[in-house]
Parts: sequence; C-alpha cells; structure tokens
Amino acid sequence: MNTGSRGTVLVSGASIAGPALAFWLHKYGFTVTAVEKSAGVRDGGYPIDVRGTAVAVAHGMGILPQLQQAHIDTRRVTFLNADGSRAAVVHPQAVVGGIDGHDLEIPRGTLTNVLYAAVRNNVEFVFDDSIDALTEHDHGVDVTFRSGAQRSFDLVVGADGLHSRTRALAFGPEQHYLRYLGYCFSICAMPNTFGLSHEALIWNTPGRAAALYAVGDGSDVHALLTFAHSEPSHEVLRAADTRRELISTVFGDDGWKIPTIVDAMHHAPDPFFDTVSQIHMPQWSSGRVALVGDAAYAPSFLTGQGSSLALVGAYMLADSLAAHDDHTTAFTAYERASRGFVDLNQAQISTGEAALIPTTADALEARNHRLRSLTTSPPTTGRPAHTALTLPDPRPAAVRSEIAVHRK
Ligand SMILES: Cc1cc2nc3c(=O)[nH]c(=O)nc-3n(C[C@H](O)[C@H](O)[C@H](O)COP(=O)(O)OP(=O)(O)OC[C@H]3O[C@@H](n4cnc5c(N)ncnc54)[C@H](O)[C@@H]3O)c2cc1C
Repeated sequence: MNTGSRGTVLVSGASIAGPALAFWLHKYGFTVTAVEKSAGVRDGGYPIDVRGTAVAVAHGMGILPQLQQAHIDTRRVTFLNADGSRAAVVHPQAVVGGIDGHDLEIPRGTLTNVLYAAVRNNVEFVFDDSIDALTEHDHGVDVTFRSGAQRSFDLVVGADGLHSRTRALAFGPEQHYLRYLGYCFSICAMPNTFGLSHEALIWNTPGRAAALYAVGDGSDVHALLTFAHSEPSHEVLRAADTRRELISTVFGDDGWKIPTIVDAMHHAPDPFFDTVSQIHMPQWSSGRVALVGDAAYAPSFLTGQGSSLALVGAYMLADSLAAHDDHTTAFTAYERASRGFVDLNQAQISTGEAALIPTTADALEARNHRLRSLTTSPPTTGRPAHTALTLPDPRPAAVRSEIAVHRK
C-alpha cells in the first residue's frame, strides 16, 4: 500500500453508502477518491428512513443534529379505496415501524447533501465520470475511467447502487444477483394542489397503489405510483418513452387523482423509475474489489431499510479495513460481522407480499382491516431487524503526517 496513508481507495457512487464510507475511511487514514456518474450529488427521491443502528452511525459522524432538524413531522397516513373514500387512518410510525424520538424520516436529498458536506473537504470527488474498466494485479487495481483517465488504487469499492457498474465488472451480470420482487415504481415531485399538510395519502386497488406525501406545508408533494407486474425487460426500463407507456397502460382506467398523478409523472423532468428488487450475493468482495449498500445487498424500498443498510454497511466496511492490514482479511471480517443484519432486514419483505400493494380484493380488505385495528399511537416495542447489530466502537482517528487531500 502507498506510503503516507493506510492506502488509496476508489469509491464508485456518491449517494449514501459512498460518502459515508469515504468519511470513515478518511478518518482511519486512507486516501479516498469518489467517482460519481452524475454532475453532482443527486438529491431527489422520496423521503427515506434512518433507523435503529444507522442512527448510531449518524451520531458517530457528528451529523445526527442536522438530520434530527430535518426529521419530517408526519401526523397521519390516510389509506383510500379505489374511489377515493377513506379505508383507514393511522399514525405513520404504526405503518413504518419506527420509534418516535429516535428513528428519523428525512428528505433523501437532505441526507445526501449532509453526507457530502461532511466529507467534501477531505476526499477527492470526481463528478460526471465512472469506471469503465478494472484490471487487478498483485499490488492494486488499474482503473480506466469513461473520461479516458487511467489511475491505480490499492482498493476499489462499489457504492453505485442497485444497478452497480462495479458489481458488473468484478462479479458478472446483474441478473445473477437481482431478485425481482414483482413490482415496479415511479416517483416524482408535483405541485401540492391537494391541500395536503404534514400527511400522506395512500390509494389502493388490487395490484396498484399511489401515494401523495406532503412534507410539512411545502408547495410540492412527493408522488409515488407502484404496481404488480411481470419483470420488465431492460429495454423498457432504460427508455423514458416505454416507461411512460407502461404507466399509462397500467393506471389508464383508474379514478380519484390518478390521472393528475400520471400526468405529473409524464411531465416531470427526472422521475425516478425502477423495479422493486433486492440484491443477493454469495460474497461481497472479490480480490481487491468490495461492494457496499444497495450494490451489495439492496433490500428494496418496501423494507424502508436501504439507507440504513448503506450507512451501517459503510461503517462496518471501514471498521474492518481499519482493523486489518490485509484487505482479504478485512473484507471477510466486514462480511462476517454484517451479513446477519443484512439478511434479517432483507427478509422483511419477500416476493409478491407487499402490504403496500395487495394484489387481490380479499388481500386488500384484509390489509385494511389490519390497519383499522392498529392504534393511532406508535408502537413502543423494539424492532429487532432495525437494531439487530451493535456497532463496534469507532477506532481512534489515524495520526496522519501527510495525506494527500485533493479538492475538485
Ligand atoms: C436519484 C435517486 C433517487 C432515489 N429515490 C429513492 C426513493 O424515492 N425511494 C427509495 O426507497 N430509494 C430511492 N433511491 C435509492 C436509495 O437512495 C438507496 O436505496 C439507498 O439509500 C442505498 O444507497 P446507496 O448509496 O447504496 O445507493 P444509491 O442511493 O442508489 O446511490 C448510488 C449512487 O451511485 C451513482 N452511480 C450509479 N452508477 C454509477 C457509475 N457507473 N459510476 C459512478 N456512479 C454511479 C448514482 O448516481 C448514485 O449517486 C434513490 C436513489 C437515487 C440515486
């Protein structure tokens, strides 16, 4: 490894897992470069949850107060029938299983921006580029970037999400690891012409759901459309036109506010569309390349645990690299310490079983019955999956005489 630092690490992806990993690796004396294919940190998306063990990671990074300040105070979730009539009203924590005063729900963009701000002065960020090729040899990994640049690093970590390019290069095609759970979803922001405040509406008909989420009294709401469907081809997923067509076909006959939401989805500049899928891999590392977050073990948005697994995984990987000089031992230790936690969280949902999208009228009525019997107060008992891992204490920060720090 290079002198002057514990070694050089290239992290692919600057969303949640990437900057969190960069933060801890820098603290432990590594020299980190992060490459992100977008022109900057992408800040869109539906509000996300930071729960259980992940709250401890945020605390360790010193960003918990900022996240607490951004916590979304949602007062109720109203479930609607196909005609817009009310099926049930519940407290949000009763639906997502968080603990009031501890777990957080925050705009995704707030989390990505806070994480980026925590590391931007200590890590080299290269935006608008990505890894094109990796060649591993005895002493490192030679990386060719899409821009044509060529560099070498001691280690490479893929934090580049569900459709990770790093995973494809080092472990093979996505279809070996992606488990499609039977649903697709699309998300965009749209004007709050519904008069919603501090609340969410969830509309259902068998096999389809729509949600409108008003964060505070904002002028926009987050809209979500999700539906049961056979697995769409890569061609459908890649092209905006075919995605639009799919949404129009699936929701074309629906009432309530669905036509307005579909229209907003079609005209949004950058709607987020994906399948509801998990990543399952027999191993999270191969030689000098490792994976973290969704790239290695996406749990799907239906678990609400994607960001929490990304934060916890980043902490555990950095801890293992700080503890072991040899990367093979470190990667094995990361996996041994984290896999049980990951498995438990991924198991919160399985194929075709989403409570958000019951696929038959009977299942929908049974779901609504369960919702009506929930108390309006949040549950106070623990949730083993969210808290099933106790973090090792942060190691002392490395004493660095000379570590290269580059800024873009
Ligand atoms: C714009 C956006 C919106 C999202 N909205 C939602 C949402 O509404 N609800 C939800 O549940 N989850 C959403 N997600 C996913 C959610 O952020 C993750 O499930 C979770 O937080 C795990 O984070 P991660 O850092 O592992 O992966 P991600 O958050 O997916 O981040 C991966 C990062 O890698 C970058 N990247 C991808 N390919 C390359 C490449 N080849 N080279 C370099 N960089 C690359 C991406 O641009 C992204 O910044 C969204 C992700 C993004 C990027």
